[in-house]
Formats: sequence, structure tokens, C-alpha cells
Amino acid sequence: MENIIRIAVQKSGRLSEDSLALLKECGIKFYNGGGKLKSPSSNFPIEFLFLRDDDIPGYVADGVADIGIVGENELVEKNKEVVTLHKLGFSKCRLSLAIPKGQEYSGLEYFNGKNIATSYPRILENYLAENNIQAEIHEISGSVEIAPSIGLAEGICDIVSSGSTLMMNGLKEVEKIFNSEAVLISHKGLNGEKQAIIDKLLFRINAVQTGKSNRYVLLNAPNGALEKITSLIPGMKSPTILPLAEEGWSSVHSVIPEDQFWEVIEELKDAGAQGILVVPIEKMVI
Ligand code: ATP
Ligand code: MG
Repeated sequence: MENIIRIAVQKSGRLSEDSLALLKECGIKFYNGGGKLKSPSSNFPIEFLFLRDDDIPGYVADGVADIGIVGENELVEKNKEVVTLHKLGFSKCRLSLAIPKGQEYSGLEYFNGKNIATSYPRILENYLAENNIQAEIHEISGSVEIAPSIGLAEGICDIVSSGSTLMMNGLKEVEKIFNSEAVLISHKGLNGEKQAIIDKLLFRINAVQTGKSNRYVLLNAPNGALEKITSLIPGMKSPTILPLAEEGWSSVHSVIPEDQFWEVIEELKDAGAQGILVVPIEKMVI
């Protein structure tokens, strides 16, 4: 087992689909059907452990798994000794304080002397202490949103993404206390062989993520506009320019960041570009 690493991923839930999709996009083949809790890859030196997300930081800290994918919320709450290797950009959510919709909210002091239900007692306790609020923390493991309506607590501290679950339960978000996304974590002090496998995996993850945040663009341009167009889409090194069959025209190929895409397209059109094609990139190695 020296030259193989073990990765802990969530068995099922809001992390598992994106975690497994990312590893597949990294070219790693594995079988995760049939309720199997442990599964090797057929083409990469990695073995999968399918676990509850609560257990992932502990398993990685203890070295049962070498690496794992978990939400920062769970990682900070569990407070285990692990290394955060890489932010993964999915399962984005926040930990917030919420109170019944009808209540007037004047500020954090609202929570002084109140009872707050949460599955994140450590994060909440630190937050309340930092802000000098004396509140009672009531730890429950799930369905936190119903606590106020059944008289268990006057407020809650829970994960929010769109806020629709809060709304359905007659609650309103009043403070955001922590932003979270999925991260890749590792055990401290892995041997060189395992580290080399992890580096290989990180290289692939980077290529997938960079590909996703860029687009390949192809367009036609009159030769007189090439200088301006090249300055708008400088690409990785410089754009590729190929002559078209029609005299005086060229085809320009380049890469643009996904988040600048619409602005740049408009500028390209204004500069004289025609027949602009934008294509997704599967992997990108800079
Ligand atoms: P498990 O059975 O593995 O303990 P769970 O019920 O604790 O699962 P999930 O609801 O599957 O947890 O959420 C897993 C993680 O996904 C959360 O800890 C958080 O990081 C993230 N997450 C939770 N809710 C959302 C959401 N609505 N949108 C995006 N990410 C979320
Ligand atoms: Mg959990």
C-alpha cells in the first residue's frame, strides 16, 4: 500500500456529485455503485473511501485517508490537524444566523440571552465570543430550521445557499458569519511517494479548473483590424493567426477568461470581428 493514496469523499449528499465529477474529469476511473464504501481506481494509484462528510476531517487527520474533499464549514467545525491543499470552487454556501420572519432585528445584540440552535457549535461559539454576545447554544445534528417553530430555540445558525429553506420555514437571514466551499485536504507529513501522487492529482485538478474558467475563441477579421483584435485577446502566449481563402482576411484563435467573455466579445465586434465562435475548454495546462 506504499505507492497508493486513499481519498475520503462524501458517500452521498451535496458534496459527493461534484467531488466525483471532478475526479472523473481528472481522468480517474472508479466504480462507486452498489453501496460500496471502499473502491480502488482502475487507472490511477488511488483508493476511494465513501464516508459521511462529518467524518472526513477526522479520517484524514488520523491518516486513515491521505486526502479528502470536504466543505470548509465542516473542516473548521471539526478543527482537526490537516493541511488545506486546494480550494475546489463547488458546494459554495454560507453559515448564517436566522430568526423568525416576524421578529424585528436591530443588530447582533438581538441574540444576547437568546437560545440558538445549530450543528456548528464551535464556529458559532467563536463568533459569539468575538462579538461579545452571550447566547445559549443548543446543538442539534439536523433539521435545524424547524427549531424556532417548535419552541426549541429563538434563532438558528445554519448553512444557507439560496435562502429558500429558511423562507419555507418562516425564517429570515440576519447575519452571515462564514463563507464556505469544498476544499481538498491532506494528512500532515505524508511520505514522498504519496506526495508525488498528490502532486500529480493537483496538476490535473488545476488543468480542469483552468480549462473551466477559460474559453477558446475563433473569429474572422479583416487584416487591417488584426492589431486591435490581437490586443483584445492576447491569449496564453499570443493568438494564432491564419490566412483565410478570401484575400485580405484572417482567422484568429485565442483563449479568453470566462468572466470577461461578454465584454470582450462586444469589443471584438466593434473592432470588426465576424463569425465569432466560443468553445468550452476541457483541460488547460499553462
Ligand atoms: P452527510 O450525510 O454526509 O453527513 P450532510 O447532510 O451533513 O451529509 P449535505 O447536506 O450533503 O451534508 O452537505 C454537505 C456539504 O455541502 C455541507 O457541509 C456544505 O459544505 C455544502 N452544502 C450544504 N448545503 C449546500 C447548499 N445548499 N449549496 C451548496 N453547498 C451546500
Ligand atoms: Mg454531515
